[in-house]
Amino acid sequence: MKKIKLKGGKEESVKRYHPWIFSGAISSLDNDIEEGELVEVYSTTGNKLATGHYQIGSIAVRILEFGNKEINENFYHSRLQSAYRLREALNLVRKDNNCYRLVHGEGDFLPGLIVDIYGDTAVVQAHSPGMHFVRMKIADALVTLPEAGIRNVYYKSDTTLPFKANLDPVNEYLVGKYDGSLALENGLQFNIDWLKGQKTGFFIDQRENRKLLEKYSNGRNVLNMFCYTGGFSVYAMRGGANKVVSVDSSSKAIELTDANVSMNFPEDPRHQAIAEDAFKYLDSIEKDEYDLIVLDPPAFAKHRSALKNGLIGYRKLNLKGFEKIKKGGIIFTFSCSQVVTKEMFRLAVFTAASQSGRKVRILHQLTQPADHPVDISHPEGEYLKGLVLYVE
Ligand code: SAH
Repeated sequence: MKKIKLKGGKEESVKRYHPWIFSGAISSLDNDIEEGELVEVYSTTGNKLATGHYQIGSIAVRILEFGNKEINENFYHSRLQSAYRLREALNLVRKDNNCYRLVHGEGDFLPGLIVDIYGDTAVVQAHSPGMHFVRMKIADALVTLPEAGIRNVYYKSDTTLPFKANLDPVNEYLVGKYDGSLALENGLQFNIDWLKGQKTGFFIDQRENRKLLEKYSNGRNVLNMFCYTGGFSVYAMRGGANKVVSVDSSSKAIELTDANVSMNFPEDPRHQAIAEDAFKYLDSIEKDEYDLIVLDPPAFAKHRSALKNGLIGYRKLNLKGFEKIKKGGIIFTFSCSQVVTKEMFRLAVFTAASQSGRKVRILHQLTQPADHPVDISHPEGEYLKGLVLYVE
C-alpha cells in the first residue's frame, strides 16, 4: 500500500481521531498515488497512524481505520452492520417507519459515504473518489446485512463527487430495481423519487422536527415554506391544523407535496400548495394570516466564501416571518448550512427579531436526528440547526 508521511506535530489531530488529513499536513507521499486509493499514514518518526482514502484537494485523506489495524475483506460489512445495529437501537426500524439514514459519513466512521433507506431500497451517495471505487463492495454488503431487508441498491453520486476527479459517475441500480414500494415515516406515507428528487429523494433529517410540529399544529393556520415533498405539511394535517399552505418555487416540489398530502388525507380541503418564490409569497400575504410558520430553506451558505451573504439571507427571511406571523404564533426556523454555526444562526434570527420589534422567546433548540450522528472528534458533522420561537 502507498504511504503518506505527515509533518512534525501534524499527527496530533489523528491521535484525537479526527478523520481528515489536510494536504498542508503532509511532508511527503509515494509517487503515483491515484485518487481514491487506500493509503497508509505515518508520523514523521515512522509510526503508522491510520489508513484511509486518498483524494486530491484540501482534504487529502479520509481515514477509515486508526492505528495499526488493517482494512480487511470484512471491513465494509462490519461497519454497515454496526450502523444498522444503532438504527435498530434507536427504534427506527418499525412497521410504521421504514425510512432512516443508515450511514451518515464520518458519524458512522465511513467518511465520504451516505446511505439512506426507503423500505427495501438503499440509496447510496459517495462524496469521495475512494467510496466511489468501492461502491460495489458496499452494495454487496448492504444486501447481505441480516434483518435489514435491503433488496435494491441505487447509486446516486452525480452531484456529490468532486467534479475535478473526472469520475463521470452514472446514477444506476447496483442491485435490483425499484419495485414501487412507498416509504413510511412515523405512520405517514411518502412517495420518494430518488431517481429525480433532490439529494437521495427525501429530507430524512427533519423527521423528529416534523413530529414536534405535529404537536403544535392543532387548530392553527400553518404555512410550510420551502415544502419540497411536503413533509411538514403532512404532519401538520395529522396534528389537526385548521389549514395548511405549502409553498415552494419548484413546480415539481408542489406536485410531490400535493401527491403526498392526498395520499395521506384524500380530498381534504384544508391543504393547498402554491408554486411561488418564498420571499414574494411572504410579501404578498396579510399580517396575521398564519399562526404557525415553517422556514426550512436550502443551504444559503454552501461554502465559507458565501457565509456573509448566507447570514444576510437568513436574517431577511426570518424578518419576513416575524413581520407576518400572528400574535401568539410559532415559527419553526432552520438552517442546514454546515458553515453556519448555531451561534451565528441564532444571532441572525435575533437580529431579525429585533428589527421586527416583536418579542420572541425560544421554545426549543433543534438539531439533526440520531440517525445523523456526529462523531465527537469531528464537529464538522453537525449541520442542521433549528429554533422554535414563540412570537408575541
Ligand atoms: N422542508 C423540506 C426540505 C426543503 S429543501 C422537507 O422537510 O423536506 C429546500 C426547498 O426549497 C427545495 O424544494 C427548493 O425547491 C426550495 N426553494 C429554493 N429556493 C426557493 C425560493 N426562493 N422560494 C421557495 N422555495 C425555494
